[in-house]
Amino acid sequence: MTNENERKRILVTGGAGFLGSHLIDRLIDKGDEVICADNLFTGSKDNIAHLLDHKRFEFIRHDVTSPLYVEVDKIYNLACPASPIHYQYDPVQTTKTCVHGAINMLGLAKRVKASILQASTSEVYGDPEVHPQTEDYWGKVNPIGIRSCYDEGKRCAESLFFDYWRQHNLQIKVVRIFNTYGPRMNPNDGRVVSNFVVQALRNEDITIYGDGQQTRSFCYVDDLIDVMVLMMNSPCDFTGPVNIGNPVEFTMLELAELVIKLTGSKSKLVFEPLPSDDPKLRQPDISLAKSNLGWEPRVCLEDGLKETIAYFKKTL
Ligand code: NAD
Ligand code: UDP
Ligand code: UDP
Repeated sequence: MTNENERKRILVTGGAGFLGSHLIDRLIDKGDEVICADNLFTGSKDNIAHLLDHKRFEFIRHDVTSPLYVEVDKIYNLACPASPIHYQYDPVQTTKTCVHGAINMLGLAKRVKASILQASTSEVYGDPEVHPQTEDYWGKVNPIGIRSCYDEGKRCAESLFFDYWRQHNLQIKVVRIFNTYGPRMNPNDGRVVSNFVVQALRNEDITIYGDGQQTRSFCYVDDLIDVMVLMMNSPCDFTGPVNIGNPVEFTMLELAELVIKLTGSKSKLVFEPLPSDDPKLRQPDISLAKSNLGWEPRVCLEDGLKETIAYFKKTL
């Protein structure tokens, strides 16, 4: 617990979402003061309900595409739907959230001289030709496809971060988050881990898109929050971008089989069409995070899934 003099006032945008609410729990535990700004598009007050009466916590219903005037020392910019079905629901708004949201939060950081961390994504690599992905790979992204509102929006946000750094000397931090899962994912979120776990617990068909041979590397939320906080507090000359995620790679078929085993489900696998531009492979090279932040993930997929399954059992 930090003492009063070291206590920081921190803004978390998207703080009522899955990752944001876990991050806020960690910051409150450390003794910081937290302002959460969220428009509740995919997030929920349920995720922060336990904090609403806390004296070091404040919630503002706010859309980051509008300017925000608050006085803070640090900003974690997480506001943006992360699941394909949600970011494709209103793609123009997704681009605005990524781009106008970044401009407003960077303008705020500039005015109050706050350090600012951007929750970027492995999607900046698109459907990658380099495997595993290293930070110096520029990616292969379709600029006009159904995923581009998110992929290009996040790429433009990175570019804005680096221009504010070069032009205005802002203290920036950019993390490229790979697929992360855990308790508080929305059961209707549409991402693969929550879909499979919810389907398995209900003994419904498990929906495999394509042949299920595409891969992802899944990080448990606690490991990810550890490294986000480490990154924010790292020396100012370390801007990133830095990959954060768990490098152990699985096919979607392997994930489905593991979920069925751990839930003891009677679900059957069904195969559905692969959405367009769905990346075939995804695995982070995390050498940079290891060397500069002294971090590596600790929770294996089986242990993380057990926690996630227990959470969904309770909430469904
Ligand atoms: P989430 O959908 O649970 O959370 C996003 C939050 O942002 C929600 O609370 C939502 O209501 C809020 N939001 C959306 N648009 C907003 C706007 N215009 N103004 C204010 N708030 C807005 O998703 P998450 O998994 O917690 O993702 C958090 C961040 O991390 C996102 O920026 C996402 O792109 C990034 N990320 C997540 C993953 C992952 O695997 N979870 C991977 C890569 C990147
Ligand atoms: N901004 C904000 N809060 C602040 C300061 C700025 O939301 O405390 C927004 C403001 O709307 C502005 C944007 O951030 O348009 C970018 O600010 P910057 O100072 O970089 O540029 P300018 O004000 O010249 O457009
Ligand atoms: N996927 C799947 N069944 C589902 C949901 C997703 O097979 O019910 C696949 C999806 O096509 C993709 C992978 O799982 O190949 C990860 O999808 P998710 O939406 O979780 O994340 P992203 O594609 O953004 O990495």
